[in-house]
Amino acid sequence: MLHITNIQKKYQLEEREHLALANVSMHIHKGDFVAIMGQSGCGKSTLLNIMGFLDTATKGEILFLGENVSIISERKRAEIRKKHIGFIFQSFNLIDELTIFENIELPLTYLNIDKKKRKERVLEVLEELSMTHRKDFFPQQLSGGQQQKVAIGRAIIAKPMLILADEPTGNLDSKNSQIIMQLLQKLNENGTTIIMVTHSAQDASYASRIIRLFDGQIVSEKFQET
Ligand code: ADP
Ligand code: MG
Repeated sequence: MLHITNIQKKYQLEEREHLALANVSMHIHKGDFVAIMGQSGCGKSTLLNIMGFLDTATKGEILFLGENVSIISERKRAEIRKKHIGFIFQSFNLIDELTIFENIELPLTYLNIDKKKRKERVLEVLEELSMTHRKDFFPQQLSGGQQQKVAIGRAIIAKPMLILADEPTGNLDSKNSQIIMQLLQKLNENGTTIIMVTHSAQDASYASRIIRLFDGQIVSEKFQET
């Protein structure tokens, strides 16, 4: 599904350059659940953003569904991203001025889905997340765990084949972390491919593959039973 080859990310700082990623290659297959681990600053978020083409590499190639996304237009990239990839972030990134319903609905609006179909799908996802009773609330009126559930709702509303999650439980207590991880596990069991950055060994135990980064390079890759 996603093949990245010899990815390099170099930041040009005033007098020196910083190599955030050096020669990273990875092959992600449909149905994978991959955890990316490593200490703070080692390049995890940079890598995840490049894999979702939110950011561009300074060298290397990215093939998504056979398409070389490093050479196509930003418009085409955005189109592929909207259709196939959902993002979840540590800080939820919900829009405070929109209700829970509207936050989850937003990606469908961008995809020009008509109103009736949008409503049907949002209600379906709210039900799946047991959040129907909160649909008219605003993000600030919810707990962190509930906000992250809404962010998952927004990520899955358009039925993406790939979910990229950057420390999705980083701001949550252990009980809510478990709820979020169980939701991700269920999505994976239903066929969604997941790539997740995490600091938590507990979260990583849900993945079938753990990749460790150190100073912008892959230092180990381990497969495990889940
Ligand atoms: P992680 O997610 O593993 O904590 P990041 O991918 O955020 O790490 O960052 C990797 C390295 O790249 C860090 O040293 C960070 O300071 C650097 N970096 C990230 N973004 C930028 C930027 N926009 N400009 C310069 N350096 C950056
Ligand atoms: Mg990070």
